[in-house]
Amino acid sequence: MDMVDNKKVNKGTKTVRTARPILKKSKGKLDPWRDPDAVPYIVLEGLSKSYGNFPAVKDVDLEVYREELFSLLGSSGCGKSTLLRMLAGFETPTKGRFTIDGVDMSHVPPYERPVNMMFQSYALFPHMTAEQNIAFGLKQEYFTRDVIRTRVKDALDLVQLSHLAKRKPHQLSGGQRQRIALARSLVKRPKLLLLDEPLGALDRKLREQTQFELVNILEEVGITTIMVTHDQEEAMTMSTRIGVMEDGYIEQVGTPTEIYEYPHTSSIAEFMGNVNLFEGRVIGEEKTLTRIYSDEVEAEFIVTQNVGVPEGSDVYVGVRPEKVLISKEPPSSDVNVLEGVVEEIAYLGDVSIYYVMLPSNKMVMATTPNLVRLSEQPITWDDRVYLTWKPSGGVVLVS
Ligand code: ADP
Ligand code: MG
Repeated sequence: MDMVDNKKVNKGTKTVRTARPILKKSKGKLDPWRDPDAVPYIVLEGLSKSYGNFPAVKDVDLEVYREELFSLLGSSGCGKSTLLRMLAGFETPTKGRFTIDGVDMSHVPPYERPVNMMFQSYALFPHMTAEQNIAFGLKQEYFTRDVIRTRVKDALDLVQLSHLAKRKPHQLSGGQRQRIALARSLVKRPKLLLLDEPLGALDRKLREQTQFELVNILEEVGITTIMVTHDQEEAMTMSTRIGVMEDGYIEQVGTPTEIYEYPHTSSIAEFMGNVNLFEGRVIGEEKTLTRIYSDEVEAEFIVTQNVGVPEGSDVYVGVRPEKVLISKEPPSSDVNVLEGVVEEIAYLGDVSIYYVMLPSNKMVMATTPNLVRLSEQPITWDDRVYLTWKPSGGVVLVS
């Protein structure tokens, strides 16, 4: 399987640059999923949903900890929204169950669950002011006026829109509307907040800005959140952990770095951003490294990872473009080295992606930071180049 062949090269591809901002509050805290004594807050057991005989969500087991921002990431149609709607109570599972803080939700109707699902900003009531929109849910539940007033004020402060309290949705920008929608779902203080593609309606720039704002606000309230997105960069930027969904299953759960650096399968690796994949076979395994020979590109690779598969097994070696060093001089080592010709350069402003054609007609991507202007870069189109990466820069994928 060729990740990059001539026809498929996507020059507009994004590279993942940002990781979740390290906020003051989370500093120094042990990640609960690494703490054997930590008790998960939300537990899904074998949760499944079929429509007729079409299984949309298959046997999902998942544990989410208090105050996490957990993302369900996957391409369109893989079952993310269905899973979320089961948690909200809008869909009845065909099988399985889930608990919040130890309480089984199976027979709890949606309006009695300590759960709030934030709808996209266009679900605000157009005839109500920002303030009235936020207060709406509380009025339905017969809180006293004083409580409502205080909570609405706090929520507006939190999303930093107190000065626009009297505006109606059409008098607010897309980003502001999104923050009002968020405030509206937070006032009821749910134990679990559900976000389905929360930033989907925003344009790219506003989206990136809002990602950070949203993470900040959610951290400040300390609310447990499960978010759905098909955008891997968004998931990487915002989440404590990610569950990658494919075809109704959760295929891998991990921190953004774990999923990016150690994807379990080649399809997860590809989904999580640009990756060079080389077909190969294991020719030797030692304590901390695996040797692979790739007939495809006639090269030997070493990866510092012991995958425990027998010699002769078919595997892929995955290497992210930013791990690949490109140079005109031959590197000192002779493993993890490929030679080729620069065919294309995609200039993305802060980085450039070099597309290097190997003699085997395989295209390999190498990303370099643009320290100088493109016209001053030492390597250009049609140059003969060497590509190399450290043994720790690659990953062995078994499927
Ligand atoms: P995602 O949110 O990941 O894009 P969904 O959870 O919306 O995916 O849908 C998963 C699959 O289930 C899709 O193939 C979709 O067509 C199907 N599906 C969703 N809702 C229904 C429904 N109410 N009836 C029948 N099929 C549905
Ligand atoms: Mg969806």
